[in-house]
Amino acid sequence: MNIEIRRSGICRFSGPLTARGKVRAIARGTCLLVPAALLNIALGSAGMAQSDSEPGSDNPHFVSGLTAADPDFPGLANLCSIPSGQRGGPQGAPNNAAPQNQEPRPLPDGPPATRVFDNLIFLGHERVSAWAVETSDGLILIDALNNPEEAEAFIENGLVSLGLDPADIRIMLISHGHGDHYAGGRYLQEKYGMEVVMSAVDRDMLASGDTGFNVAGWAENIPDVGRTVHDERDTIVLGDTTLELVVTPGHTMGTITTIITVRDGDNTHLAALWGGTGFNFEPNTWQFLAYATSAERMRAEVLERGMEVFLSNHVRRDQSDRRIELLRERQPGDAHPFLLTPERLARGFQVFRDCALGRATLQL
Ligand SMILES: [Zn+2]
Repeated sequence: MNIEIRRSGICRFSGPLTARGKVRAIARGTCLLVPAALLNIALGSAGMAQSDSEPGSDNPHFVSGLTAADPDFPGLANLCSIPSGQRGGPQGAPNNAAPQNQEPRPLPDGPPATRVFDNLIFLGHERVSAWAVETSDGLILIDALNNPEEAEAFIENGLVSLGLDPADIRIMLISHGHGDHYAGGRYLQEKYGMEVVMSAVDRDMLASGDTGFNVAGWAENIPDVGRTVHDERDTIVLGDTTLELVVTPGHTMGTITTIITVRDGDNTHLAALWGGTGFNFEPNTWQFLAYATSAERMRAEVLERGMEVFLSNHVRRDQSDRRIELLRERQPGDAHPFLLTPERLARGFQVFRDCALGRATLQL
């Protein structure tokens, strides 16, 4: 059985569970389908005793999530906690957001632009990451950082530092509708004219002005979206490369997770670039359950397909700064520092699932 949930709460029971409880693509304002087993897990632990000192610290979902985070995913562990003063209340802008006033601030530090795999390039800084996939017919850029200055410093100059030409960016995929990932995009699009791809759900969210944040510079720098992703799954094809797009509602309801085949010499590996991580949305049960459902779907797919690499658009989440350092020291024959086993990678998605379930139970 699936249970449908509206933004306002559970709306009605629906028919028999499809195989593996696949979640339907979600449009804003529509019901979403949550596998009953997943919901039962969450409901079953609602109302449990809470620690006086640390709300939710004895929540079994948090305990499970924190166990799964160790040792490969230290950057995800804080999802299994409640930020002080935020329980049940509105959340602030992401801490990687652009400044609230117009005063320029120094560009952030961070790892240099790096060819992490033969066809995958890191173009971020200490807080936010963009990635470029090199194809036989140009570059696909995934995300555009916080503002034009960061796009110039880290994306354009980063590509040039690696001998690449930013004019070769043919497509820009925006993972989700928060400005730390798109607000460098308008500048790049006006300069180079690439096609911009985004989920229809998040494009509509931006068009409505309903972003949940009011950060200076974000609204003015939304790129023109040329192609929207409507379905739960889609692809971007450029030259010899196909990126798989999976709409994973949660962080936003149109967050796109990208599956990339990365090359390392003679070997190829499947990488999952989780499109949005933080719980920086208005705390509510339905969105945490959407998040947990998306995470469980990806966890199962990681195991089924043998995915081995975790990527994020925030350095602190995927530890890409540490891994890039290790990559620099890599000797011939050494394992690639971004490489996990599918079982280890699946534990990262378990962290997402269980932390979101834990937060869901605390909203009930
Ligand atoms: Zn975000």
